[in-house]
Amino acid sequence: MKKVLVLEDESSIRSFVVINLRRGGYEPIEAETGAQAFEQLRRNPDVKVALLDIMLPDIDGFEVCRRIRAADPHMGIIMLTARTQEMDKVTGLMTGADDYVTKPFSPAELTARVDALYRRVGGDDVEETGELTRGPFKLNTRNRTLEKNGERVKLTQIEYSIIKLFMDNPGKALSREDILNSVWGRDYFGELKIVDVNIRRLRLKIEDDPTSPTFITTVWGYGYKWGF
Ligand code: CA
Repeated sequence: MKKVLVLEDESSIRSFVVINLRRGGYEPIEAETGAQAFEQLRRNPDVKVALLDIMLPDIDGFEVCRRIRAADPHMGIIMLTARTQEMDKVTGLMTGADDYVTKPFSPAELTARVDALYRRVGGDDVEETGELTRGPFKLNTRNRTLEKNGERVKLTQIEYSIIKLFMDNPGKALSREDILNSVWGRDYFGELKIVDVNIRRLRLKIEDDPTSPTFITTVWGYGYKWGF
């Protein structure tokens, strides 16, 4: 069974999420507090995707996200954000989340997001083996890992997919829509801003000087490209 952690203290929202995940073929693992979430992850090491509420009784969802990410760079993490708190989206992504859904969300939207992320973390690139080298970077497409000058760069699955797209298309300007469609999938409901936030985070990890990027460069008014 494909297990998904559902961390949400409001029981009505949690039930709604759980019912819809079951309908979508997932096995929801429930938690009401951050402490319960960590306990559930210890008991269920095969959880691949986590849905995290932000306002919780013990610690906030960003901190939960940070700790999960520190322990497991491959976990797919979706933040459940409130519509009124625009900053939550950016904060969530900067603390290592892969995606967010804004409350109130529809069952279709929720399952589309979980499906998309599960496909990523499940790793459907099995037919691909080998290495891709560009400048100081070496991408291992079998292990889905990146090295810069021989040192491992810890990436989330989304970050891996973005950098692979760039390394597959060196020097080609890619629009935000191209990146969104390729990385998140055409059925993705989200906003283009998620592309910018993920690229900002990726630059912090791969650029020598993130304030003046030389690997992922900006194509003003259009998108991004690999190199100049
Ligand atoms: Ca809450």
